[in-house]
Amino acid sequence: MTFSVHGLAVSRGIAIGRAVLVASSRADVAHYFVEDADVRSEIHRVRDARNTVVEEISRLQRDLPADAPHELAALLDVHLMLLQDEQLISGVKGWISERHYNAEWALTTQYEMIARQFDEMEDEYLRERKADLEQVVERVLRAMKGVASPVQHRNQGVRKQQKELLHDDKLDVPLVLVAHDLSPADMLQFKQSLFAGFATDVGGRTSHTAIVARSMDIPAVVGARSASQLIKQDDWVIIDGDAGVLIVDPSPIILAEYGFKQRQGALERERLNRLRHTPAVTLDGQKVELLANIEMPEDTSGAIQAGAVGVGLFRSEFLFMGRIGNLPDEEEQYLAYRQAIEGMQGLPVTIRTVDIGADKPLERHTKAQEAQLNPALGLRAIRWSLADPPMFLTQLRAILRAAAHGQVNLLVPMLAHASEIRQTMSLIDHARATLDNKGQVYGPVKLGAMIEIPAAALTLKLFLKYFDFLSIGTNDLIQYTLAIDRADEAVAHLYDPCHPAVLRLVADTIAECNAQGKGISVCGEMAGDVNMTRLLLGLGLRCFSMHPSQILSVKQQILRADAGKLQPWAQEVLASEDPASLL
Ligand code: PEP
Ligand code: MG
Repeated sequence: MTFSVHGLAVSRGIAIGRAVLVASSRADVAHYFVEDADVRSEIHRVRDARNTVVEEISRLQRDLPADAPHELAALLDVHLMLLQDEQLISGVKGWISERHYNAEWALTTQYEMIARQFDEMEDEYLRERKADLEQVVERVLRAMKGVASPVQHRNQGVRKQQKELLHDDKLDVPLVLVAHDLSPADMLQFKQSLFAGFATDVGGRTSHTAIVARSMDIPAVVGARSASQLIKQDDWVIIDGDAGVLIVDPSPIILAEYGFKQRQGALERERLNRLRHTPAVTLDGQKVELLANIEMPEDTSGAIQAGAVGVGLFRSEFLFMGRIGNLPDEEEQYLAYRQAIEGMQGLPVTIRTVDIGADKPLERHTKAQEAQLNPALGLRAIRWSLADPPMFLTQLRAILRAAAHGQVNLLVPMLAHASEIRQTMSLIDHARATLDNKGQVYGPVKLGAMIEIPAAALTLKLFLKYFDFLSIGTNDLIQYTLAIDRADEAVAHLYDPCHPAVLRLVADTIAECNAQGKGISVCGEMAGDVNMTRLLLGLGLRCFSMHPSQILSVKQQILRADAGKLQPWAQEVLASEDPASLL
């Protein structure tokens, strides 16, 4: 029976496919497709891992001391029984041979299916067996980790190969991913895969999970509350990323309607593509720079393709996520920044120093993270960097060295205090001095600060004394001005980019920089929102940084706009009690 679930529209377009349910704790399991020829060996891989675990448990059983509690022996029996369970074994085989899922993905998918059946059981004893099943599956996954899949090496990150597989008749079923929650690091893993759309129960419009979904340019809905409970593995789902709706088990009429919308969207994109090489100039001749936001060096190819004239925000923290205890060293970072610089073929690249913390933890659930009372107000971004000077100096040296290969701007997130600015400046000097002492080559960088805390927007003169340019991070500026957690769907209705207080801070920052002849850009999500383009132009903004996928739509708005005429109108919007009604 068809039903719909409402959430927040975070990445445009329509995806129609079968649901793949992924528990957040399982998101770091590899997900890729195996080729026909590898199906048998993939099935053997799970079988061998299962046999290893059976042996382990049997050995444990044999070695149990005579006085061991009876419950322990019974528990091991239950684990052995679960491992031999026909539903688990045949299900896993099915996912591999029919869907071509890799072994780990097949195992966790089948686990999710059985776990749900346990959840629905009346008998409490049986319900609690879910925990045992989870432990058993964990053990098998661990056993598989020890044996690298030959297939994995060939498949990892190889989108082309996956595409070919998806075009195999058998596999030509688009898949959409449904999860309770996904961290930005999880999303990054899925960036390599070919899911046609995403839906999560939690998250806000500018949560970093939503931001990564947008950067992948595939339809996504977040904050869909109980979607992962209501949707079952393999259900047909339409993800309407424009309206923020999920339609489950759609009727043929609804499917036809959405199929039509999907084709319309594709046609519109083709039309927009013609603007790729058109310079972004308003009707009255004002030149506008459209830059790209990227997460990884490889994203530069998308930026170039979309006609970006540089990178306005490289979120360098994505190089650090999931790497606790093994953060990238100077050489690794230098190579990554250099790759991005070279990828941009001589165009400028703005590298932001790490912005770890809040909804971008280093690791999904670290003890330190749990201990923080309010991570969004805690040790995040520059605060984290200043708390660990050796780590920060390593990053600064890597950026300075990479700057020898092209035009680089260095951008510092979340500054609010003069003391933080001075400490940052002195660490940059320190990094240069170290490179000088070692005789290492480095290049010049322009220094910029993000304006994303109201305190910074209210002390612009201080910032402009130290920095060459400013970039407004509207995502955080809204969060901190309105006291709304950007990742919390429960207060998402209050997260308002058009609140007069937010617009006032944005307008004053643009005006002050323009008056002093300093560079100013907006790199938060507001820059890529076509509903805001005219207002930002009217406020005097001439540099926008956004996901490559948004560049052409924003360019279209710019080509149709008269910046001179928009100026007085923008002042009216600023003075209004309800600015959104005037846009
Ligand atoms: C912002 O806050 O607007 C911004 C661009 O930075 P991030 O989204 O990474 O916090
Ligand atoms: Mg920010």
